[in-house]
Amino acid sequence: MNKRTLLMIPGPVEFEPAVMAAMGEPTTSHLAPDFVEAFGQSLQDMRLVFDSPSGQPLVLAGSGTLAMDCAGANLVEPGDKALVVETGYFSERFSLILERYGARVTHLSTSPGSRPSLEHVKAALEAESFKLMTITHVDTSTAVMAEVKELAALARHYGVLVIVDGVCSIAGEELHMDAWGVDLALTASQKAIGVPPGLALLMIGPRALEAFNRRINPVLNYYADWSNWLPIMQAYEGRKPSYFGTPPVNLIFALNISLRQILAEGMPARFSRHVAISQACKAGISALGLSQLPLHPEYAAHTLTAPRYPIGVSGADYLDRVLQGGVTLAGGLLPAIRKEYFRIGHMGAVTLADIVATLGAIEKALTGCGYEFTPNAGVEAAQASAKNPTNRH
Ligand code: PMP
Repeated sequence: MNKRTLLMIPGPVEFEPAVMAAMGEPTTSHLAPDFVEAFGQSLQDMRLVFDSPSGQPLVLAGSGTLAMDCAGANLVEPGDKALVVETGYFSERFSLILERYGARVTHLSTSPGSRPSLEHVKAALEAESFKLMTITHVDTSTAVMAEVKELAALARHYGVLVIVDGVCSIAGEELHMDAWGVDLALTASQKAIGVPPGLALLMIGPRALEAFNRRINPVLNYYADWSNWLPIMQAYEGRKPSYFGTPPVNLIFALNISLRQILAEGMPARFSRHVAISQACKAGISALGLSQLPLHPEYAAHTLTAPRYPIGVSGADYLDRVLQGGVTLAGGLLPAIRKEYFRIGHMGAVTLADIVATLGAIEKALTGCGYEFTPNAGVEAAQASAKNPTNRH
């Protein structure tokens, strides 16, 4: 029997067949006209997906962590002050990266499942002058979504650069980079962008570019230095081949296809679909009597769900049973509470059918673990939620 399972982790996710077909095409030269066109079109499309007409797109071979490293390397100079709005494991990773390049980091942290309040952030911005602030739009370790629009407006008011880690949000959660005053947003290919792992994507706004151009010290990361890459991106967007490091040709062909699909769906429709799918999943989880890590529904992301295990259900045994039911889920990630919860990713090509299959496998696994609930309650609640669009926002 084919061993493929339904991949419902928060990245990588299930990808569209046309995207996968591009991965299997014969690799062309990175200077070939069809590749130049695909790369140029992808860079243009990124501006629409990030909603950043004024942005400079940058695509590198690497994962989301490289995109974060690239932002840190190019924007931080030794002694710069940075404010990190912490909502989980990936916010902490950003502070480690900034510190590596010499930043003095102030951490705004809260308990797991919560997020720093706007008042808390405002007080920190008032107390000291920072060069930049990082926000993790969706922290994949907690499924907490940050208030990017409000936080960015605050930081802008204090003249602080706004950097958004959108690895678990971009092309899934609503983001209007220019209108909200975000100076740099970054993501990776394997989540809502809908392409297998291997691409780091950044959109650099004009204020971030100015800060880069005002640097006194050299960038301490040769590969990630924007001086090496920005002329290459500008050349490809102008449909001219160029070279600094060999681009991942097939991944970029796949990116071109996925971005075209995303824009054909339309950004508002795509955001609403992610909200509807998320609500169906969360309704199913609640109907089974499971609580979630985010402390309030309005903190919860729409790209993943982080249910807590019910009493008596152990993570390893349970996740293995879900897998036997044909669905791959992820365990907890936040070290202090890793064994208390699991994660269901639902972004990109995800459909209601995937949520129903996932809840079916979850119900069977819970039963196998001896947990009692009304049979079929999860699946039915998800289907009912999907039928009733009234509570969508
Ligand atoms: N930030 C967030 C919010 C993430 O979810 C991830 C990956 N799960 C990363 C950064 C790091 O990305 P990568 O694993 O591709 O390096």
